Amino acid sequence: MIALSLAEIAEVVGGQTHDIPDPSVQVTGPVVRDSREAGPGSLFVAFAGERVDGHDFAAAVVEAGAVAVLGTRPVGVPAIVVEDVQSALGALARHVVARLGATLVALTGSAGKTSTKDLIAQVLRRKAPTVFTPGSLNNEIGLPLTALSATEETRFLVLEMGARGIGHIRYLTELTPPRIGLVLNVGSAHIGEFGGREQIAQAKGELVESLPSEADGGTAVLNADDPYVRAMASRTKAKVLLFGESDEADVRAENVRLTDTGQPAFRLHTPSGASDVTMRLYGEHHVSNALAAAAVAHELGMSADEIAVALSEAGSLSRWRMEVTERPDGVTVVNDAYNANPESMKAALRALVAMGKGRRTWAVLGKMAELGDEALAEHDAVGRLAVRLNVSKLVAVGGREAAWLQLGAYNEGSWGEESVHVSDAQAAVDLLRSELRPGDVVLVKASRSVGLESVAQALLESG
Ligand code: ATP
Ligand code: MG
Repeated sequence: MIALSLAEIAEVVGGQTHDIPDPSVQVTGPVVRDSREAGPGSLFVAFAGERVDGHDFAAAVVEAGAVAVLGTRPVGVPAIVVEDVQSALGALARHVVARLGATLVALTGSAGKTSTKDLIAQVLRRKAPTVFTPGSLNNEIGLPLTALSATEETRFLVLEMGARGIGHIRYLTELTPPRIGLVLNVGSAHIGEFGGREQIAQAKGELVESLPSEADGGTAVLNADDPYVRAMASRTKAKVLLFGESDEADVRAENVRLTDTGQPAFRLHTPSGASDVTMRLYGEHHVSNALAAAAVAHELGMSADEIAVALSEAGSLSRWRMEVTERPDGVTVVNDAYNANPESMKAALRALVAMGKGRRTWAVLGKMAELGDEALAEHDAVGRLAVRLNVSKLVAVGGREAAWLQLGAYNEGSWGEESVHVSDAQAAVDLLRSELRPGDVVLVKASRSVGLESVAQALLESG
């Protein structure tokens, strides 16, 4: 982070200083909430959780070199005391990003935020120092912590923003106001909590509403292929840059195909030229993510050739997303167990079939959470798609939703033993261990709460 004195921090967050002999001492970073990450120069943010109270670690973090604690009560070591730690952290982030010379890029969407954030970071960092959210730290705590990790050298700050309701994104944009705002898609993730797609679009669109006007450099990067996102153009004063396969997109993909290994390839067109991309990532859904990243990079002055090279070399930075591992016996395990929604389930099935051409393919799938009234129909549709794509074997894992998956498969075709329903991850592992043959390709995917990565891990250990 940029160096700030304790006096300045106390003023910015409206806090009282306690046990601070010298308020001119500077925090040089990082700002941490995990006591184990505290070190020389750091500021420790003490949250009082249900099980652990950060304040209990005050002495330990100072021992480790932390300059002070930001908390809600004096703790006997240097502390800045505030009423609410989360708003103090937000205020500090807002103060710091205003002083940075970095361009802020924020992105949101129902699916693909982390994948796209990782792509954007890998493209932009070829041009200039880039800081980005690690993993999926996309909420009111992770976002300010990421912003605070930027330094004077940082030119681009790439921030994933998640929304679980109306007003969430607006709040995040107040903490870290972006100049470029990207909306990927409006899918059905969290539809149960939101109430419907319109509401999801309403919530995600808060990002483009927050942007500066075109005259002040604001740019909204919108998915031309998603009608809900496309419609957000009318909600912003910023310049609009469209990406997608649609002809009206400014940044487009032509000749989209999957290579024999199941990786997407296409010709990238930006307003500054055209160039060929062959991705290292798996799954055609990454074409849309790559175009989104290309649009951001174009806006920040990169040429089509530079962008194409960067996209072709970009790998996944976050685990359990289409992680492809080959066992010594030739079984390929595709671990996409990080999360699932209807869109990503379908994309993953298509990737499985493309990379498994001429081989036996297994789809080991569990429930897609938070679908509300659409749950039955969406699980049914995924089961049916598995049959239409000729996936060799469907293993539906878990309770009611898994039964719906299998029923969809059954109703779509004449499947008997090709689709099975097992009660839990262990049962799936037992079945696969006895049935897998060299050369088979196994996709493992479900919502986060199902924890199906245990199946992928067990398969890799037993290979
Ligand atoms: P979260 O809300 O958990 O932070 P996210 O939006 O960051 O999720 P990712 O972690 O990138 O999304 O991907 C989640 C799942 O969605 C993965 O299984 C991935 O394969 C899939 N996915 C990635 N990009 C897309 C896309 N453009 N459309 C549909 N599905 C996608
Ligand atoms: Mg994420």
